[in-house]
Amino acid sequence: MSLIKFKNLTKVYTLGEIQVHALNDVSLTIESGEFVAIMGPSGSGKSTCMNILGCLDKPTSGSYNLDGIDIVSKSLPDLAAIRNQKIGFVFQGFNLLSRTTALENVELPMIYNKIPPAQMRERAMQALVKVGLANRADHVPSQLSGGQQQRVAIARALVNDAPIIFADEPTGNLDTKTSHEVMTLFSQLNSEFKKTVIVITHENDIAAYAKRVVRFLDGKIVEDHVQTPRTPEG
Ligand code: ADP
Ligand code: ADP
Repeated sequence: MSLIKFKNLTKVYTLGEIQVHALNDVSLTIESGEFVAIMGPSGSGKSTCMNILGCLDKPTSGSYNLDGIDIVSKSLPDLAAIRNQKIGFVFQGFNLLSRTTALENVELPMIYNKIPPAQMRERAMQALVKVGLANRADHVPSQLSGGQQQRVAIARALVNDAPIIFADEPTGNLDTKTSHEVMTLFSQLNSEFKKTVIVITHENDIAAYAKRVVRFLDGKIVEDHVQTPRTPEG
């Protein structure tokens, strides 16, 4: 069974009398353990596809099976729970709470799962260890560099032990060196912790870390190839 299976996905936005086919009959299968870069120009359908993948939106037609679950038939509250369990999200803007320590930021996704506080603290600390930031647990975001903030966000994405890490332009706000450090971390999460990693990016240098590149154009997948990933340096 595939981890992610899109079949004949179409998404049509209706703006008055205009219909926009944001996705046009897209089929895509991603297996557990893959590291996929999603590429394509602005307006090509990446975000629409990823909002559906992340259970934030439903297609106009077509099917989506996530780890054996028929997503299209689920209610929105059910989807929120499924998302929390299956997918850890990482964003371009880090999306950390500014008055809250790194450790508390990492604890956030567990609050919905009614986990006892001591266990939350323990699991959040373990996630910070995985991203190499245990020594910054009590720092607030303004005391951390951009790369460190993104690593806190990655720890937050790991803490529920979701099989999928989904990152939308995760290096968009980072300098080149830090971008490569963050991508090296994603490579490690993929190889050592067996996470399925999906990264949206505009940059070839960033996509180079993935084992597979899927490229969108005009609401369709126009390229899908495997590659030898760039090996982490240092
Ligand atoms: P990308 O992420 O590759 O930039 P999008 O999925 O955001 O592409 O957009 C694909 C197409 O769908 C574009 O033509 C865009 O203008 C349109 N679109 C995206 N979201 C909406 C929306 N909420 N309402 C109307 N049109 C939209
Ligand atoms: P960008 O990556 O362009 O900087 P953001 O990181 O702010 O954009 O967020 C991208 C989209 O994901 C936004 O539409 C936002 O509403 C949504 N989003 C932000 N945080 C979460 C979250 N924790 N879970 C699900 N969706 C989120």
